[in-house]
Amino acid sequence: MNRSDIIRSTEEIGFLPEQKFGQNFLCDEEMCDRIVGLCDFKKGDRVLEIGPGLGSLTSLLVSKGADLTCVEIDKRLAEYIDDHYSCRVFPNDYTKLKPEQYDASVYVNAVSNIPYYVMTPIMKKLLTELKASDKLVLMVEKEALNRILAKPCTKQYGPLAILCALYGDIDVCFDLPGNLFYPAPKTVSSVITLTGGIKDNVDKDFTSFLDKAFGNRRKKLVNNIDSDKETAVNILDKHGYGPDTRAEEITPFDILMIYRDIIL
Ligand code: SAM
Repeated sequence: MNRSDIIRSTEEIGFLPEQKFGQNFLCDEEMCDRIVGLCDFKKGDRVLEIGPGLGSLTSLLVSKGADLTCVEIDKRLAEYIDDHYSCRVFPNDYTKLKPEQYDASVYVNAVSNIPYYVMTPIMKKLLTELKASDKLVLMVEKEALNRILAKPCTKQYGPLAILCALYGDIDVCFDLPGNLFYPAPKTVSSVITLTGGIKDNVDKDFTSFLDKAFGNRRKKLVNNIDSDKETAVNILDKHGYGPDTRAEEITPFDILMIYRDIIL
């Protein structure tokens, strides 16, 4: 969809984009093609799109044969997508949907031009709930890349970086300036792909464990989590970490192994 298509669609439904929902619609057809071209679904595969908006990516996903499910928080846009494209639409806040409500285990790919105000919760859900998915194609705020790609022992390293690293390979593909959107945001966006990765035990409970482990970054891991201190110290020792280790000093793979030993 180009800029005039987007403006015509907003006029058709008498719609003013809402900043509170991060509504900046992509209106550059070449970029839409490039983003959808990063997906690797086959005709008939189940694909999930979060926040379809007016359908910039939706139209291409459907025309390429995806069996598409969309989740859109804004009821007016959800209705618009339902009327114009052949896909399933949930008129919901994605962060509030339970996995069974949107068949989380069936999607091969997920795509989203993520509303930036809610990037972390949306990414955490995509990274932990889509058990059949082998590729996520996401547009994020360029500024957020330092949190997504953060390494241990840095200020930005935390649950999001760990979940991303465990998901698999992360590629930063290209940037998009604000003028390719309507209305134009002040920030630059980046498209990333996440491919493959570890799925066992990378779930909601692991995310809660990570959130606790990083709850107070200055505290030792054993003082942040609920488990018995002596057991936790022994498990840390087994993985080569001292009793005073803080969560931010542990690699993604090791913290998953430590978690598995704690819960099993
Ligand atoms: N995909 C479209 C595009 O590229 O033009 C729209 C992208 S716009 C940045 C983000 C979209 O996500 C908006 O349509 C917005 O209403 C929707 N959205 C915002 N918060 C959401 C949430 N919590 N759950 C589902 N959709 C959400």
